[in-house]
Amino acid sequence: MQTIDQFNFAGKRAFVRVDFNVPLDENSQITDDTRIRAALPTLKKILADGGSVIIASHMGRPKKNPDSKYSLKAILPHVSEVLGVDVKFAPDCAQAGDLAAALKPGEVLMLENLRFYEEEEGKPRGEFATDDEKAAAKKVTKENQKKFTATLASYADCYVNDAFGTAHRAHASTALIAKYFDETNKMFGYLMEKEVIAVQKIMTDTARPFTAIMGGSKVSSKIEIIENLLTKVDNLIIAGGMTYTFTKALGGKIGNSICEDDKLDLALELLEKAKANDVQIVLADDAKIADAFSNDANTQFVPVGEIPDGWEGLDIGPATEKKFADVIKASKTILWNGPTGVFEFDNFTSGSRAVGEAIVEATQNGAFSLVGGGDSVACVNKFGIADKVSYVSTGGGALLEAIEGRVLPGIEAIRGY
Ligand code: AMP
Repeated sequence: MQTIDQFNFAGKRAFVRVDFNVPLDENSQITDDTRIRAALPTLKKILADGGSVIIASHMGRPKKNPDSKYSLKAILPHVSEVLGVDVKFAPDCAQAGDLAAALKPGEVLMLENLRFYEEEEGKPRGEFATDDEKAAAKKVTKENQKKFTATLASYADCYVNDAFGTAHRAHASTALIAKYFDETNKMFGYLMEKEVIAVQKIMTDTARPFTAIMGGSKVSSKIEIIENLLTKVDNLIIAGGMTYTFTKALGGKIGNSICEDDKLDLALELLEKAKANDVQIVLADDAKIADAFSNDANTQFVPVGEIPDGWEGLDIGPATEKKFADVIKASKTILWNGPTGVFEFDNFTSGSRAVGEAIVEATQNGAFSLVGGGDSVACVNKFGIADKVSYVSTGGGALLEAIEGRVLPGIEAIRGY
């Protein structure tokens, strides 16, 4: 497989799929440029080699072409500034052949939002009166998608995918385009490469014991991940709101805690499956409970299955913090997805902080730790420990699908599996 480090971009035009889907305020100013900065190593390497770059990205969910609200033109000055190059702009991503052909080494062209064209996602837009009409429109869009993809591919000599955030989508620019380039001319960018290696360390080249900490609010949103993890991990720590579905299923009293009553059987099934697979499920023993869903509520610590009516568990208690930390500190591979409690309230961050600190300690002792999926990333940022874990994933949905054991089209298109 080709790698970006080995590839010499001198005299080549590179089509680089990035994820510049950055948040903008009402004046179209960027409020967080993390995603832009994350792609800089790849873009700079290509330019340093003497190549030229065609930057391609989506932004938001536009419903028409063009849609000024989602124009990438808004971020052009900032991209130019952080890259240190006066980036040119192609106002129509499907009509950029001449601009791309005119690029000289060291020059950069940014394409307008790929999703202005429905062909990027391959899904027809609009309302359809019947299923037949919809199916017919889908067929046309899929046909047009081939032309759109071929057009994008014609701009460049090589293809670099650095957009892990969209790796779980089989879109024109994230996956389909790769087949227009031979093995030697397509590769992951540096960001994507780091993500792929991190997932590999968790899913295949796993140092043991492997502990996953699954937190967050609901079991239902994590079923597939938990099921797949039960075939991979040695320890599965169940934390956060889903604790109470398991506690109730086991006969405990959970008061007003968040619970999915239709998932009680499933919780028991998962516990059985864990036993069959020799996976240790680590559940909370005590909880920090509150008499309202509020930071300022009255609180007390109680055994997790003895929560009085009118009270709800909003974090784990001190005994559980220690129990979880002991398991984490004895691990060689750690995955953290989801907080142990309502970490947005300062009075209920202690459990998540304890988990974060145990992960840091394990990492310092040689474990590989991956933090990923929305709120756990917010946690490590809140606690200032993002640079003390092995890797913080940038791709929420893509990471979760990879952990579910799915093949990600954006990865498969480059690597072949
Ligand atoms: P998720 O997106 O599923 O990872 O869930 C994250 C959310 O779960 C965060 O907003 C937390 O506040 C919430 N959460 C964690 N523990 C609890 C709890 N015990 N009760 C209610 N919400 C919780």
